[in-house]
Amino acid sequence: MAERQTGRFLANRLAAAGLKPQHHFGQNFLIDLNLVELIVRTAGLSKTDVVLEIGTGAGSMTRLLAEQAGAVISAEIDQHLFALATAELEGCDNVELILGDALKSKHTLKPELMDAVRRKMTDIGPQARFLLVANLPYNVATPIISNLLHETPMPAMMVVTIQKELADRLVAAPATKDYGALSVWVQTICRSETVRVLQPSVFWPRPNVQSAIVRIDTDPAKRAAIPEPKAFHETLRALFFHRRKFLRSVVISAMKEQLDKANVDRVLQQLGFDSQARVEELSPTEISRLIEGLRLATAASAPVYRPVAETTDADNEESRDTESGGADS
Ligand code: SAH
Repeated sequence: MAERQTGRFLANRLAAAGLKPQHHFGQNFLIDLNLVELIVRTAGLSKTDVVLEIGTGAGSMTRLLAEQAGAVISAEIDQHLFALATAELEGCDNVELILGDALKSKHTLKPELMDAVRRKMTDIGPQARFLLVANLPYNVATPIISNLLHETPMPAMMVVTIQKELADRLVAAPATKDYGALSVWVQTICRSETVRVLQPSVFWPRPNVQSAIVRIDTDPAKRAAIPEPKAFHETLRALFFHRRKFLRSVVISAMKEQLDKANVDRVLQQLGFDSQARVEELSPTEISRLIEGLRLATAASAPVYRPVAETTDADNEESRDTESGGADS
């Protein structure tokens, strides 16, 4: 049985290896072991579960996950921590450690991760369940959660430690400052709840912000109800790019190259949207109806196939959101 990774243990372990926590990799280790246990307990694991962890760190949670799950795939970007975790987890036969960035690009996960997940699920058989359980690196928490909702399979559940500010955005209601494309995307497919708010002192080193353990339950039927999830997500981001402008002008700019003004007006009118409304006031259900209406109108007005336009607006939105602590959806 390996030693429990308390704060002191971890500080000594890193120092012995000549390492220091790297701020740019979001290295804030969870040193309150009761909380590591709470995260794992919240996931309610069994031996038919395949768990993806992003950010192995020194492997403290990985070991606990390995004890309870059928298989664990854990990714770590820092080669020094990867080496340390490899040593720490020696003998854990059901753990696969993957070295490298969990993201291939802002909107895609490294394919190797889901390939490994699917392989393990096939080994386990039809009862296999896929979960993300992680103390997520803060700089990539949003794209990881957001991108996993596009994957096949999606995780049945995600239990993650994230910045409190991001947790608030996941559950935000319309017309609040935290409500945005990410809120709508996640709420369209999932039910999320904050399990525990965490003070900086439970991490080493201490982050500057509060964090939260969040449980996100996905609903495959809700995703299946979205005809084209990628296009839905792109339109959604584009709609929130100018969140405070009136709906009509927001929709026109989001749909440029795809739908002319007359068609936009027709969709808004047919669906009964007030063109003086603002997108940030609409509920996720209303926004889904709007995006579906726009999709159908686009398909009807385009006799030949046109690829979805590059949504540069969406990229802008994300850089803007990065400044306030994490890219949006
Ligand atoms: N799971 C450990 C570490 C959490 S800190 C614990 O709970 O204590 C976050 C970890 O994610 C760090 O080890 C950091 O190096 C790693 N990390 C940061 N960015 C990453 C990325 N893009 N892909 C994979 N791992 C990443």
